[in-house]
Amino acid sequence: MERVYNFSAGPSMLPLEVLEKAAAEMLCYKDSGMSVMEMSHRSPVYEEIIADAEKLLRKIMNIPDNYKVLFLQGGASTQFAAVPLNLMNKNKKADYIVSGQFSGKAFKEAQKYGDVACVATSKDANFAFIPQTTRESFRPDADYVHICFNNTIYGTKFNYIPDTGDIPLVADMSSCIISEPVDVTKFGMIYAGAQKNMAPAGLTIVIVREDLIGNAREDIPTMLDYKIMADNGSMYNTPPCYCIYIAKLVYEWIDSLGGLEKMKEMNEKKAKVLYDYLDSQDYYIAPVQKESRSLMNVTFVTGNADLDKKFASEAAAAGLKNLKGHRSVGGRRASIYNAMPYDGVVKLVEFMKKFAQENPKA
Ligand SMILES: *Cc1c(COP(=O)(O)O)cnc(C)c1O
Repeated sequence: MERVYNFSAGPSMLPLEVLEKAAAEMLCYKDSGMSVMEMSHRSPVYEEIIADAEKLLRKIMNIPDNYKVLFLQGGASTQFAAVPLNLMNKNKKADYIVSGQFSGKAFKEAQKYGDVACVATSKDANFAFIPQTTRESFRPDADYVHICFNNTIYGTKFNYIPDTGDIPLVADMSSCIISEPVDVTKFGMIYAGAQKNMAPAGLTIVIVREDLIGNAREDIPTMLDYKIMADNGSMYNTPPCYCIYIAKLVYEWIDSLGGLEKMKEMNEKKAKVLYDYLDSQDYYIAPVQKESRSLMNVTFVTGNADLDKKFASEAAAAGLKNLKGHRSVGGRRASIYNAMPYDGVVKLVEFMKKFAQENPKA
């Protein structure tokens, strides 16, 4: 069977070159005589893999030395608790921008641990845009400000980095990390579940400024304490070894193509094909305001639930899989992460045109 174009929001496509390399190394990694899945995480051969993964991520994201890079488990959702447990440590206050479902969940989780405020939201507009903020939007004594940089479900992205003054900015970048360059120094912390744009599910990346760690709440579970994880090189316990290996291959792939500038160029080119088409017709409706559009997750609806359903099944039959929108939103969603080839997006637009012709609205 041929490989399809997989528009899944996550877990999602991995670069073919990465899968081929992993397949070639599956039974015997270099001269170890075993699979990466089978080796001790304390062995020199594995230590080299995790060290290379970190080195490469630091290189492609241009992460300064005063930031720790952690390879953790539990998904981005575990960070919804880990962030307040680690960082809500001075005034027990934190401010959240709620721009979609995941930032809503993060906000709700943090409320268990302190005085947590929603300082801006687009909820009343069904999250069709990213709220604008100024420094005055935030409480000056907040321990941090939390945002979700790219809203996977709604298809919106911050087109600005909120100015929080001296307050550390924490960003969930699960669905946009390594899709384009970001200035890491503008953030106190960045975290991401790896299964959208980096690796298989099971790995979570945390990038955190050194001065922010080491003051976690006393009752924090050991496994969630960034300081303990940092002091142990992400190996307080067994890390998600194989996922880290695949992440390393993905970082190598990006590096070999020309880094995040190149990813941005490729991702903009792909997204443009889709958005240009959406803007040129009125069969499909793109609910997101233009200035908040995501490069990674493109949402659209026909305005008719039966047509939406028919669209997804016929697209799947044509080798364009997983175009169903999130169960909470409906409609269609094309996730076009780094690994989605340009041709996949061109094929999708061809299919959309044909579908619109063949299925006129009453
Ligand atoms: C997928 C996603 C999550 C949830 O990630 P898990 O790893 O499943 O916990 C959180 N935030 C964003 C932005 C996501 O895209």
